[in-house]
Amino acid sequence: MHLLAASRSGRVGPIADALRALNAPALDAYRRLLGAGDVARLVRDNGILYVYESEAALDADDAGWAMRRARGIRVERIGRDALRQLEPALGPGIACAMLIEDSAHVVDPAGVVKTLAERFAADGGGIERRRVTGFDLGPEGPRAVYTDAGPRDAGAVVVAAGAWSRTLAAKLGSRVPLEAERGYHVTLPDPGVAPSRPVGFIERGFIATPMAMGLRLAGTVELASLDAPPDYRRARALLEHGRRLFPGLDGDGASEWMGCRPSLPDSLPVIGRAPGFSNVYFAFGHGHLGLTQGAVTGELIAALVAGRPPAIDLAPYRADRF
Ligand SMILES: Cc1cc2nc3c(=O)[nH]c(=O)nc-3n(C[C@H](O)[C@H](O)[C@H](O)COP(=O)(O)OP(=O)(O)OC[C@H]3O[C@@H](n4cnc5c(N)ncnc54)[C@H](O)[C@@H]3O)c2cc1C
Repeated sequence: MHLLAASRSGRVGPIADALRALNAPALDAYRRLLGAGDVARLVRDNGILYVYESEAALDADDAGWAMRRARGIRVERIGRDALRQLEPALGPGIACAMLIEDSAHVVDPAGVVKTLAERFAADGGGIERRRVTGFDLGPEGPRAVYTDAGPRDAGAVVVAAGAWSRTLAAKLGSRVPLEAERGYHVTLPDPGVAPSRPVGFIERGFIATPMAMGLRLAGTVELASLDAPPDYRRARALLEHGRRLFPGLDGDGASEWMGCRPSLPDSLPVIGRAPGFSNVYFAFGHGHLGLTQGAVTGELIAALVAGRPPAIDLAPYRADRF
């Protein structure tokens, strides 16, 4: 019902605005947190291509493209011949595309996380790997965090546990309709094709991204419980769809992966102070866009914890909006 409510025409525009507010500053936020040198090593900013099997399919998708244009995103329609010049490896079944030039992609997500952790430690931050099981709640809010290695005193608590945040938020009195929207990828170390930028295949629901470790085909949506075993037939299906995109695709040595997108019914995350507490902050529910929005979210939460005004209005991301 929350999903239906969020799909009404009057809600979709404001939701797109709130997504745009987090996505537009994403690359600048990574530049600030990673530094220009590491951004140059870990991020490519040469755009993204969304391809279609027919002009009619692209026309049918027009509402989405109109929404992007209305929010200042530059998109360019590319016909069959120009598309072959842009990406010669595309198969004959691909008819046309939309190009977003002002888009960047990460070539090594683990490298981004490791670099951020190294910078945090270099700035004096301490990292402990513990499983959080609950909170010692005093009259002013949590005084300590219970972990599998005993309690830890806490002046402020940030819940940023992805799809697992629902249970932790509930222990702090917030009920959020957060679900694991599971997705898969298959990475081809030696794919035999070399697209110059990410290629999204709208009709088949995945994106092929050239990365440091090979070509990664990522997508699919599976609503399953957090601890259900992976169904890797979905990753193999991505490889089959990939061959429609790039007929010469070589699947030798492919590795498979499943991950949990932390998703809320209106496609927006929860970012801000937790209802009822002055020293608890929520930063979860980023769905399909958590890598994109991670640095921006980090800066927003850092501002709140430090008592500075956040750079954008956080009202659309309130935990109690449902
Ligand atoms: C197939 C696929 C493709 C994707 N592609 C993109 C993309 O192209 N661009 C993009 O922006 N995003 C993409 N995403 C989405 C992105 O991966 C997520 O939005 C992002 O990982 C969410 O980040 P997070 O830190 O909130 O959660 P997570 O990355 O899930 O991290 C949560 C962490 O919390 C830890 N944790 C959980 N419970 C506890 C506890 N009790 N105590 C201590 N620690 C705990 C977990 O171990 C985990 O390390 C994709 C996701 C999938 C599955």
